[in-house]
Amino acid sequence: MQSLYNHSLINNCINGQQQQPQDGSNCPFLLLSRKMSRISSTGLQQDVVPDRPIGYGAFGVVWAVTDPRDGKRVALKKMPNVFQNILSSIRVYREIKMLLFFKHENVLSALDFLQPPHIDFFQEVYVITELMQSDLHKIIVSSQPLTSDHVKVFLYQILRGLRYLHSANILHRDIKPGNLLVNSNCLLKICDFGLARVNETDASKRMTQEVVTQYYRAPELLTGANHYTFSIDIWSVGCIFAELLGRRILFQAKTPLQQLDLITGLLGTPTCEDMRYACDGAIKYIQGRPYKAPSLSALYTLSPQATHEAVHLLSQMLIFNPDKRISCTNALSHPYLDEGRLRYHSCMCRCCHTVGGVRRYASDLEPLAPTVFDDGFEKGLHSVHQVKDKLHKTILEKCGSYNRVPLCINPNSAAFKNFASSTVAHPSELPPSPHQWECA
Ligand SMILES: [Zn+2]
Repeated sequence: MQSLYNHSLINNCINGQQQQPQDGSNCPFLLLSRKMSRISSTGLQQDVVPDRPIGYGAFGVVWAVTDPRDGKRVALKKMPNVFQNILSSIRVYREIKMLLFFKHENVLSALDFLQPPHIDFFQEVYVITELMQSDLHKIIVSSQPLTSDHVKVFLYQILRGLRYLHSANILHRDIKPGNLLVNSNCLLKICDFGLARVNETDASKRMTQEVVTQYYRAPELLTGANHYTFSIDIWSVGCIFAELLGRRILFQAKTPLQQLDLITGLLGTPTCEDMRYACDGAIKYIQGRPYKAPSLSALYTLSPQATHEAVHLLSQMLIFNPDKRISCTNALSHPYLDEGRLRYHSCMCRCCHTVGGVRRYASDLEPLAPTVFDDGFEKGLHSVHQVKDKLHKTILEKCGSYNRVPLCINPNSAAFKNFASSTVAHPSELPPSPHQWECA
């Protein structure tokens, strides 16, 4: 079979051949398929939407590109530096496995992959997902109006997607407005599973605190808890709910310590019981500060949309003690979300259908995952080489199963140079690490 990297140096190395001119060599798209000539001859080139970068973070770069097979716009995520060490290799392998596992309207999943080169040259992973026009961060900071209906339908979808993830036994661990993609119809999808992992049921096992962007970090993470659960995601949703209402970040602190001060400023000084997961240093710090009374009524001043019902639900998400924080399932049964559910299933979802002018609702409006996500594939992986081999096989198998012409990067496209040099965020652009408490 002819390699798909015909234009690249890698291809020459593999095949030991001279570069051959391709039927799509004058194609403007970043992505290339071997059936490119079909598109070129249709004249689609005349009004090409340029391929462009749309986002980047610690673990990847995302571009909006055109799928040359059907002219559809899709998102291409480039994950570079995958095989630097065993941890980064497993993290990417896990993310790819999750993207293949997810089947839910409010959770982003993999549509396709670029065909990987021979394993000796396999350094980067390219995954194709649905393209969404915007994200909640861009919408919140924009000048477009956000009505109470918008807030309700967004919050409903966030919780609907998160309930699915939690039922699959997955903690997202980086829920923030930028990771909630939104299209022009207000359909929302949770994305970026770079920090996601399976819930740890053994409370004696130490879990990393290097998770969740600071503004959305739950108090147990800020106070050095070694173990945490699904409720860290709910805290983040509470912060986003308040941000949707007030159109500004709820707890916008410069440091993790100030972050904690802002939280206790709103919720009041926590009791000893509420700090049961905090480490000694953090408890000492909080108890050494002047006593603060709760001031939850401040939530009513977020916006005129902060009704009694809204504040009631919000204050159940923003609870210091993770054991007392509301779950996704219970949040979804709160009356505040009834209108959001109705709107979503009346005209936005794919689970309900209109037959003869009558809307037939699905029997389960907020479906759970049919099985939990099994991370057993991670066991027995001890070397980068092992992970690389497994990941390579997984992607090749998937590429073969789609029954479509595989895709590759087109080095002759106008965007190629820019794409090839695009890389992940520099550490200085990333949120600060958790505070280092003196813990016994
Ligand atoms: Zn529906």
